[in-house]
Amino acid sequence: KKKHFVQQKVEVFRGSDPVLSVLMWGVNHSINDLSHVPVPVMLLPDDFKASTKIKVSNHLFNKENLPGQFKFKDYCPQVFRNLRERCHPHSHQQVSLARSPPLKYEEGQGTKLVLTSYDHTLVVKEISSEEVEGMHNILSEYHQHIVTCHGSTLLPQFLAMYRVSVESEDTYLLVMRNMFSTDCTYTGKFMTFTLYFQVKELPTYKDVDFRNNMQKVYVSDDEKEKIVDKLNRDIEFLVRMRIMEYSLLLGIHDVERAEREEEEEEMESSYEEEEEDENTLAPAPRFTSPEGIGGYMNSFKPMGPGEFDPYVDVYAIQSAVGAPQREVYFMGLIDVLTQYDTKKKAAHAAKAVKHGAGAEISTVHPEQYAKRFREFTTKIFA
Ligand code: AMP
Ligand code: AMP
Repeated sequence: KKKHFVQQKVEVFRGSDPVLSVLMWGVNHSINDLSHVPVPVMLLPDDFKASTKIKVSNHLFNKENLPGQFKFKDYCPQVFRNLRERCHPHSHQQVSLARSPPLKYEEGQGTKLVLTSYDHTLVVKEISSEEVEGMHNILSEYHQHIVTCHGSTLLPQFLAMYRVSVESEDTYLLVMRNMFSTDCTYTGKFMTFTLYFQVKELPTYKDVDFRNNMQKVYVSDDEKEKIVDKLNRDIEFLVRMRIMEYSLLLGIHDVERAEREEEEEEMESSYEEEEEDENTLAPAPRFTSPEGIGGYMNSFKPMGPGEFDPYVDVYAIQSAVGAPQREVYFMGLIDVLTQYDTKKKAAHAAKAVKHGAGAEISTVHPEQYAKRFREFTTKIFA
């Protein structure tokens, strides 16, 4: 049930949604605020606890777009600014949230918001207050981890965390880098097919599921070693932070399918052009010849199927030469803010209600979780 084939499509979020409007307002406000504060030489312990808050009543300028009263809280602004500069230098990522309304992920799961920025570079996810607490607990070590691995990690790249309050309702929002391709949005063709897959409590079961689908990740030994190294470092970090219940997000881009679709589209448009001329219905070879497409792609920067810029699509890996299919994989760890102690407390409370205090808790330890997770993930490689 957790495994879907997802056609990556998005719909424009209603502009009238107050939480979204306040998010955009708030991001804009933060950008302005930070632009007046010089970048600190180094981060101090207090920066990892800091936050800025603003409360707005009777907002005069934009009454039709914003609620009459709202609050906006920006958590650890200096830390996230530092992380943004490390992970996404030269990008105007925050601006992309403030400028145009974010889009809703089509497979909006449950009641939690999952959004992408209009340019698809960012994912904004609604999180719980426990996760906000979890973030505060790990942020300093997380920052250190990003520094030592130079951003080469499968962990999410956390770029900002906010609280939006409208009508005394708090919504916590986490901004991350999109693990899937960003280029698909420019060409409309890059990401035509996505399979994602999550390992929760019972990774072994999901493993069977995955295999029944005959899905494998075909990468070169070199690439595999790099991924496994990253994964081991990241999982070590998660164990140290006593985190569990994280998942593997895996997107598989079918390059051949994308090429077929691209050709079909080009063919269609060429038919349209030549509709009047009944004698020229044969497919025009220049559209199918690789040199033609390659030449076209090279002259126009938008990339062809299966191509990506490794500095932009940091989670992307190309399939190995000689793999049964030509694919691009997008791989990362998500849901990394649940700490064992919070989990255990919650489980304890639930058990105590059900079976009385002292009932045994069956929550798996972070070490066990990591072991199973590692076993599972190494098996997905062909
Ligand atoms: P609030 O910002 O008050 O809505 O808090 C949301 C959650 O984040 C609560 O569970 C707090 O315990 C946690 N939290 C907020 N600020 C901090 C902080 N500086 N350090 C640790 N936890 C925090
Ligand atoms: P989660 O609640 O963390 O399991 O996320 C729900 C869904 O949002 C995931 O199954 C993904 O499809 C998507 N998602 C979450 N984080 C990211 C990310 N950093 N990049 C791309 N998609 C994401």
